[in-house]
Formats: sequence, structure tokens, C-alpha cells
Amino acid sequence: MKITDKISRSDKTLFSFELLPPLKGHNIERVYQAIDPLMEFDPSFINVTYHQEEVVYKKHPSGLLEKKTIRKRPGTVAISAAIKYKYPSLEVVPHLICGGFSKEDTEYALIDFHYLGINNLLALRGDPPKGIRDFIPEPDGHPYALGLVEQIVRMNNGLYLDEDLRNTAATNFCVGIAGYPEKHIESPNFAYDLKYLKEKIDAGAGFIITQMFFNNQDYFDFVNRCREAGITVPIIPGLKPVATLRDINILPQVFNIDIPEDLVKEIQQCKTNEQAFQVGIEWTINQSKELIKFGVPVLHYFTISISENIRQIASAVF
Ligand code: FAD
Repeated sequence: MKITDKISRSDKTLFSFELLPPLKGHNIERVYQAIDPLMEFDPSFINVTYHQEEVVYKKHPSGLLEKKTIRKRPGTVAISAAIKYKYPSLEVVPHLICGGFSKEDTEYALIDFHYLGINNLLALRGDPPKGIRDFIPEPDGHPYALGLVEQIVRMNNGLYLDEDLRNTAATNFCVGIAGYPEKHIESPNFAYDLKYLKEKIDAGAGFIITQMFFNNQDYFDFVNRCREAGITVPIIPGLKPVATLRDINILPQVFNIDIPEDLVKEIQQCKTNEQAFQVGIEWTINQSKELIKFGVPVLHYFTISISENIRQIASAVF
């Protein structure tokens, strides 16, 4: 079922979460071990992230450095299909990115999803690879997620890249996109970010999942700005519990988000990662309860494939 239909048919806040594919060489059992403890909370859908290739330098005994391109977390398409096969009641939402994909690669990925019966996607641009400042699309790839949304919508209308194809099968994808309550790092201001967000909605995206935030007011303000701009689709808040002492320094760097002073103080008073883990759980429970009161359609948790904190949060909230 489409995520948008799941939301419109429900009169309560739904539960969903995001998983990362395991690191290359690890077993898919890790994915199931993250999902199983959360099944009792009746998740409506599970997102599976997509990871672009990275450049790494391997040092040889001679001292020479060899430049290698590797994908550390492959398998998004197969993991999505495996989840659907093992948990038939679950909808799966694979992420699809522009980075590393030509338009033709994108078309082949969409054909695979279509054949697998996967009808929900999160369309993203992707970040530049580690250590590189600017995002560089493939020579025939999409520079922004907008192009990806447009390509998916064209396939929903039976239009493939090869215009000579006749009697094509129209796909039936429900497309989600990312939103940034604290603004995307590259945007000069909120107005720009919103203009491009609206372009993706006008192109056919049906829902938004937000970047993590730790102050609900950022989400409330974002929703108000979106509604004023004429964006009416569901805006799903993304939540990540702080899990270690270092998270208060790492998360702002990686995701360009702010950690509220009260949360910083609470974490700084912790002596161990275990204590910080518990503070993160309590903070996210409070955030979740307030968001439910606000009437959010879904609470979406970024698990980083560790489900114990999400299990404790879900049991307090749902
Ligand atoms: P875009 O919509 O392309 O926007 C990128 C920037 O360009 C923004 O600043 C925007 O304002 C601007 N912009 C957009 N359109 C135009 C235009 N036409 N002209 C000029 N400027 C424009 N990354 C991954 O690699 N894999 C994942 O699985 C993944 N999952 C994510 C899940 C969520 C919920 C979120 C919030 C992010 C995720 N990301 C993931 C990170 C995401 O790919 C990055 O934040 C990326 O930098 C931006 O992606 P986007 O789809 O928002 O980009």
C-alpha cells in the first residue's frame, strides 16, 4: 500500500523507522535483529538507506597509497526485497539517490523495484562523498532530487527514457522526499530551501520525511512555513535519540542541526555512554509525546540499526 494511503486511512499517529544496510561482509541477520524487537509496535513502514561509493586510500607495505572506490553498505534493493518477503505485513521504503547514478542507472533501479512489487520510495540527491565539498552528479545524472522525482513520475505515466518504447508498463510509485526543519546546509536561506521543496511536491512527491531535530519548535515552524507556501502533503518528523557522549558534537557536524542547551547539559553531566543512551531515550520520548499531541501523521525513527533505544521509546509512546 502507498504510504500516503496508509496515512490517510489512519486516525492515529503511525510508527516507522529507518535502517542502514549492514557493512559489506556482514550478515543480513543484523537487519532482522534490528527489526524483530520493534515488530510488536506494528511499524507501518521501514526505510532502507542508500549509500554511494566512497573513495578510500589503501596503504601498501612500500608506502605507496592506492586509491580505491568502494561501497561500504551495498544491498539496498536486495535488503528491501528481503524485508518484504520476511515481513509481508510491512511496507518498505528504499532510498534512491542521484549520486553515482546516471538517468539510465536510475531507470534500471526503478524497473527492479517495480518487478519486486516495491511501490514506495524516498527520492534524494545524496551527499557528496566524504572529504569532498561539492556534490557532483554523474555526467548524465540528476543534479538535484527534483530530476529524480520527475523521472519517477514519468515512469508512473509509462514514459521511459527510450521514447521509442511502445506499450510500456506504467509504474505506481509513491514518492517521498527529504525536508529540513533547520534548513539544508547548502541553502542560502529558508526561502530558497522551501522554494525547491515546493518544486519537488509540484512535480509529484507525496510526502516529506524530515531531517532529525531535537527541538520540536523547529518542526512546528517548518510545518507552518510549508503550509503557508501551499505544501499540503504529510510532513513526517524524523527523530534520532542521542546514543553516546560524543553524539552532541558529531550530530551537528554531520547533519547540520542544533542540539538544545538543556540536552547538551544533561549529556555533559553523564559519566558513561550508557547514561547518555538513557538521556537520549527520555528526551526522544518527550519529543514524541508532544509531536503526537500536535497530530503528526507518523513518528519516524532513525535507528542506525540499533533498536534497543527505539524499542524503549516505542513502548513508552505507542
Ligand atoms: P535536493 O532536493 O537536491 O536539495 C539539495 C540542495 O540544493 C538544497 O540546498 C536545495 O535547497 C538546493 N536545490 C534543490 N533544487 C535546486 C535547484 N533546482 N536549483 C538550485 N538549488 C536547488 N543521503 C544518502 O546518501 N542516502 C540516504 O539514504 C539518505 N537518506 C536520507 C533520509 C532523510 C530523511 C534525510 C532528511 C536525508 C537523507 N540523506 C541521505 C541525505 C540527503 O541526501 C542530503 O541531505 C543531501 O545533501 C540533500 O538531499 P535532498 O534530496 O534534500 O536534495
